[in-house]
Amino acid sequence: MKPPRKLHIKSYGCQMNVYDAQRMVDTMAADGFVETANADDADLVILNTCHIREKASEKVYSELGRLRVAREEAARNGRDMRIAVAGCVAQAEGGEIIRRAPVVDVVVGPQSYHHLPELLARASRDGKAIETEFPPLDKFGFLPQPKSAAIRARGISAFVTVQEGCDKFCTFCVVPYTRGAEVSRPVDKIVEDVKRLTDNGVRELTLIGQNVNAYHGEGPDGRAWPLGRLLHHLAEIPGIARLRYSTSHPRDVDDSLIEAHRDLPGLMPFVHLPVQSGSDRILAAMNRKHTVRDYVAVIERFRRVRQDIAFSSDFIVGFPGETEEDFSATLALVMQIGYAAAYSFKYSPRPGTPAAEMQEMVSASDMDERLVRLQELIDSQQSAFNRAAIGTTVDVLFERAARNPGQIVGRTAYLQPAHVMASPDIIGKVLPVRIESLERYSLLGELVPTPAASGATIASSPTTIGA
Ligand code: SAM
Ligand code: SF4
Repeated sequence: MKPPRKLHIKSYGCQMNVYDAQRMVDTMAADGFVETANADDADLVILNTCHIREKASEKVYSELGRLRVAREEAARNGRDMRIAVAGCVAQAEGGEIIRRAPVVDVVVGPQSYHHLPELLARASRDGKAIETEFPPLDKFGFLPQPKSAAIRARGISAFVTVQEGCDKFCTFCVVPYTRGAEVSRPVDKIVEDVKRLTDNGVRELTLIGQNVNAYHGEGPDGRAWPLGRLLHHLAEIPGIARLRYSTSHPRDVDDSLIEAHRDLPGLMPFVHLPVQSGSDRILAAMNRKHTVRDYVAVIERFRRVRQDIAFSSDFIVGFPGETEEDFSATLALVMQIGYAAAYSFKYSPRPGTPAAEMQEMVSASDMDERLVRLQELIDSQQSAFNRAAIGTTVDVLFERAARNPGQIVGRTAYLQPAHVMASPDIIGKVLPVRIESLERYSLLGELVPTPAASGATIASSPTTIGA
């Protein structure tokens, strides 16, 4: 019998790419491939790329340089290594990738990766294969389902794509061009995926989409359901302990989402709500379609229904035309909101976006200096938020054995890693932990004895939504 062929996949960028990489593994598993952690002994290497900033795109070409050497070595040993580039760089650059890196066999955009087996066959026949169309039928109907063993190996926390693409056209962003127009998956398809995950031990679901709260998928009643209604529906599925969703746009926070936070204890009180800038002038130039005041009002609506809610955000510093005054307004907004965490990036001009044509570039030194100041402020807020957990008892969903022998690590509602000394039986359970100390970004604590802590397995654990 021929040994199975090996697939190595390397993913860059956002959560959607992590999810897409898993679905590509599932697609190729149906074609006889098994995953390997080592690119050098793979028969097929897929780079699942990110185009959001220049640095992310350029990483792909340096990786392709390394793979060229690995492929030559494989050929010397009588092995054929195939190389595919998937994801947003594939979508944006298409055939240009093969021109710059002839070692690549297949280029496949994010909407077409269900065609990977055919594309590989076409490349074997014709030398190269490129597919970057937005096909009329969505790929989800064609993707093979993950096998039980694959779901279990991926752990108790899973992503499910519910929405893809974006119609917002922020002037700095490539997503509307690489991922296409907003599309929402129907509710019953999402429920099927979720049931398969929970049947195999998944306890935490993160619903993902480039603009997830623009979700408007068809419900079983034939109407378009908003995200809040979908969350209410999924909360009924036995086995789910926690629900999350990401990434949201401030403009699309509707009453259904606020009500979901009010009504569903299992919907985690931690919301990623990117704002990008604290200056109305810059928000307008970014085409964000909201003001600082609108953003603060949205935050207040969440806080009114859930006092323990915390926020994270994304910021861009050095957008064209950003003055010191604009940047100070960003710092002031961060002070006003008080974040549990946040990501901040230097503006990176992306070819084809309106902002790339803007002339008033901020100097590299001003950008560097602003990024340091913003990150210092965000870090101080994150440290204060983490320190505030010391001495309290918090619910932790345990995920896996930690690096230190005997320790098990899980996450709090706010995604803070929390470590305890305990038996691996607790993996998959939500248990109260008394937090004793903080080590960098990790909380250390002790399990608080509860009747539920003894003996239950994932399948038999009484913890469902609201635990
Ligand atoms: N949909 C989300 C939103 O509404 O903000 C964000 C999607 S994007 C994948 C993630 C983050 O990358 C953005 O929030 C933004 O902060 C950052 N980003 C996008 N384009 C960028 C660019 N050209 N330069 C620097 N950062 C960028
Ligand atoms: Fe990009 Fe703006 Fe869409 Fe977010 S909302 S994906 S930043 S265009």
